[in-house]
Amino acid sequence: MGSDSLLLKTYSAAVTAVGLGLLLVALPAVRYDSLSSLLLFLVLAAASEWTYISYKRSMFSLTFSIILPTFILFGPATAALVNVVGHLIGNGLLRRRPVNRVLFNAGQYAICSLLAGYLYNMVAGPVMLRALTPGTFAALVLYVVVYLLTNHLLVQTFLVIESRGFLSLSDIFKGSLEALRWDGFNYALGLPLGFLLAVLYRTGELLGLGMVVMIFFVITVTFRLAVHLSTANRDLTVLYEMSRLLSSALDLDRLFDLVVSAIQKVAGYDVALLLLWDERDRVLVPARVEHPEPELFEGRRVKAGEGVIGKVAETKQPLVVRDTATGPSLDCHLLAEFRSRSVMVVPLVAENRLTGCAVVGSYRPNVYDDHDLRLLTILGGQVAVAMENAILYRRTEELVITDPMTGLYNYRYLYPKLNEEIKLARASGNRVSLIYLDIDNFKAYNDQLGHQAGDRILREFAAIIRENIRDTDTPVRYGGDEFVVLLSGTGPEEARAVAQRIKDQVADHLFLDDGVRLTVSAGIATFPDHASSGDELIHRADKAMYMGKRDGNDQVYASTYLVEGDDDAREGGTAPRG
Ligand code: GH3
Ligand code: MG
Repeated sequence: MGSDSLLLKTYSAAVTAVGLGLLLVALPAVRYDSLSSLLLFLVLAAASEWTYISYKRSMFSLTFSIILPTFILFGPATAALVNVVGHLIGNGLLRRRPVNRVLFNAGQYAICSLLAGYLYNMVAGPVMLRALTPGTFAALVLYVVVYLLTNHLLVQTFLVIESRGFLSLSDIFKGSLEALRWDGFNYALGLPLGFLLAVLYRTGELLGLGMVVMIFFVITVTFRLAVHLSTANRDLTVLYEMSRLLSSALDLDRLFDLVVSAIQKVAGYDVALLLLWDERDRVLVPARVEHPEPELFEGRRVKAGEGVIGKVAETKQPLVVRDTATGPSLDCHLLAEFRSRSVMVVPLVAENRLTGCAVVGSYRPNVYDDHDLRLLTILGGQVAVAMENAILYRRTEELVITDPMTGLYNYRYLYPKLNEEIKLARASGNRVSLIYLDIDNFKAYNDQLGHQAGDRILREFAAIIRENIRDTDTPVRYGGDEFVVLLSGTGPEEARAVAQRIKDQVADHLFLDDGVRLTVSAGIATFPDHASSGDELIHRADKAMYMGKRDGNDQVYASTYLVEGDDDAREGGTAPRG
């Protein structure tokens, strides 16, 4: 791996040199019954190293169950030789893992088996298989513990140096504990199994050999099956849980919560990003950021085809980067902020339509493999469908409350919004005003210019309303040529000014690019000044507008002058302020 740090290279080379050097020194002490017996243990060790499985980021093999009987039968030097050569053949030659990783592991295996073996010999002398006393048993446990701890120390040091600057101390500690737990389980199995293999081997030459091979084979297969089942079970559970939850999640934010927690369970991540695909601009937009500094991703966009993420969006093919430090350039400004060594980018695709991308990263290299990628891709398909549903639901909700012709809200939105505003105003002592607008003689324009021209007038009028109000105000097409604006936190004077502005602009505006002029009538009412409820507020503003229409259309009428309890005819009988 080209870009390993100098420290990592030095450490790795030192462990390799010390381990292999010690093995060389110990070589004269290698003992074995016959060449075939030595070969048997070598083949078993190599097979075990060849068929290792990775589970939960740890490497799993039953090699220790071969090394222990080799030590018990032939002593530390032979055990170290079988360990090293088995690893070189199984992991290096057959599995073709990176050379310097294989050499490092060979070195650390030599150190582990020699250290544990000679310590055993110092404490308890040569192993007596026939006379297993509590003392020998304790020494065997010592052998296992020394082997395990040395192995753990050497490997974890390697990982810490490798991910230096990427991992916090607590992350390192957590990862280390996790690995120790799985290793502990592995070695706890290795002790009795290894001992049994040694005893069986001693019982009779040929029969014993056959038994050793068979038992080891059966246990290996069972073990692999168990790990695979456990993995598959975990994956299926997560996928099932997710498909159940996702199918009912119609709120996008809630959906994103579910998705990131699912990704965490399925693949694990240190940083993650959910991007939404914008089909119109053909860009990916960050929608959910799981990162210590989320502000780094604000306003960022990834164009289709741009860098690795853009490529995934374009090709709809998932991608795993095992090590960003050594792989080809990612050419992606988003991933530059990720500071991750391992990255997976998965397209979220529903029926061949891209809805977004999920990007997950780990501070450690070589964390994600094809299995994770496959799983995340399956999950991605479910997520995409759920996302489409949620987006569709949101759009439908918007459609229900939107007037299709002008794009303003419709009456369905007005009532709940009005009641909510009044509730807030009541609680905070604020005021809410409502402007009621109606085009004068609109029917005549309609009849004269045609219905389509009438539609255009309505749209232009809506645009004038929109230009003259704040973002916090609510413009509504109430029906036909009647419009309403809800102004939160606004008193009658301010509302009157807004209404006047709209009236003036309408009067100045040449509609239909054609010199068509028209006027509107406006009435305003304010809560709590003129009305004590939403319905009453609309009613009062409508009445004021109506009075204006009756008296001539150049003024804004306010309910301010209404006398409570008067009948309709007198209600608006007020002098316009002007
Ligand atoms: P007034 O000054 O009293 O308000 O008179 P008016 O003609 O504006 O009022 P009226 O309520 O009699 O007429 C409103 C007209 O608006 C009647 C209807 O044909 C027209 N209208 C309602 N909805 C639409 C629409 O969506 N498009 C078009 N082009 N016209 C519409
Ligand atoms: Mg009208």
